[in-house]
Amino acid sequence: MIPALGYAAHDPSSPMAPWRFERRDPGPTDVRIRIEYCGVCHSDLHFVRGEWGPIKYPQVPGHEIVGRVVSVGDRVSKYKQGDAVGVGCLVDSCRTCASCEAGLEQYCDTGHTQTYGGIEKETGRPTQGGYSSEIVVDERFVLRIPDGMDLASAAPLLCAGITTFSPLRQWKVGPGMGVGVVGLGGLGHMAVKLARAMGAEVTLFTTSPEKAADGERLGAHRVVVSRDAAAMKGAQNSLDVILDTVSAPHDLEGLLGTLRRDGTLVLLGGSPSPHSSPSAFSFIMRRKRMAGSLIGGLPETQEMLDFCAKHGIGADIELIPVAGVDEGYARMLRGDVKYRFVLDMSTLPG
Ligand code: NAP
Ligand code: ZN
Ligand code: ZN
Repeated sequence: MIPALGYAAHDPSSPMAPWRFERRDPGPTDVRIRIEYCGVCHSDLHFVRGEWGPIKYPQVPGHEIVGRVVSVGDRVSKYKQGDAVGVGCLVDSCRTCASCEAGLEQYCDTGHTQTYGGIEKETGRPTQGGYSSEIVVDERFVLRIPDGMDLASAAPLLCAGITTFSPLRQWKVGPGMGVGVVGLGGLGHMAVKLARAMGAEVTLFTTSPEKAADGERLGAHRVVVSRDAAAMKGAQNSLDVILDTVSAPHDLEGLLGTLRRDGTLVLLGGSPSPHSSPSAFSFIMRRKRMAGSLIGGLPETQEMLDFCAKHGIGADIELIPVAGVDEGYARMLRGDVKYRFVLDMSTLPG
């Protein structure tokens, strides 16, 4: 076993703290990675605080992982020592079901293995995430960080980037389409950048009027303050796809009204409690739909990283020391993050 140091939650409410644990010995198809940066996703907070249901502690969160390869197993062909690599939200799946064969491992019939909070098949132990010194992952679930990409601002692409890229591809977003993005946080700011790079006409919906200038700087053509009824009315019947990244219950009815005929509202945010249900007429009129989308599979995640490299896209980040993560969580809850915290793992306290 490989000794590792993590920053773990020990219960739903105490501050996070250093915790020593072990990574499995690398097998023939495994890649051993020294972690340099890890993004702080709102899902980390939902999960370690038990907002999505009770969990086992200690738990090291983190699934926006970037680092360098330390060593590889005998049968690893894609990576070698020193390569810049990433690990996202999943580290295994059955690999044989129709979804896995289609490269949609996130929808694996038997359930994928989450990077943290899952069960590691090799050892039967809980998986532990990227707020840690090292990780060992099968090469199929490792991503290549394209040459020249800044590693710290690449980290959030492994969750916030792919979670927004995948539905933009699924709904075939391109020039001439109106795309709405709801919530300017980690996911939302990536959605604005990616939709703009794909050529769409981008509308940002925000509850924070002070974020309007940033929304435009990031690529939005139009910013609508969603609590302003007149502004919402002005945006009626103008969008084809909306990516809703909001982390808490909120009004969906008003957003549905901004869709054109055959438009789709895609829910990405993992609100711990349900939204109030929109009326049937919100869908019947103009034949609208509501959908959801979960992260992305491995091939699409690599495609997203390569797309970002080609278009010069990274996350807008604030690099913080590992010991600052509780303050980071508090600020994220206040919407005070521009637009993703990334932990500098060289500051991991021993
Ligand atoms: P974040 O950085 O905290 O951003 C969420 C944004 O939502 C906020 O910046 C805020 O934007 C808006 N918001 C927050 N509370 C609100 C409220 N009560 N009413 C209206 N708007 C509100 O979070 P994130 O990391 O982007 O994650 C967003 C959500 O996506 C989380 O629930 C996370 O668990 C989930 N998630 C899902 C997937 C997936 O695969 N589907 C993957 C990753 C994350 P404004 O200030 O602009 O209004
Ligand atoms: Zn995430
Ligand atoms: Zn499968």
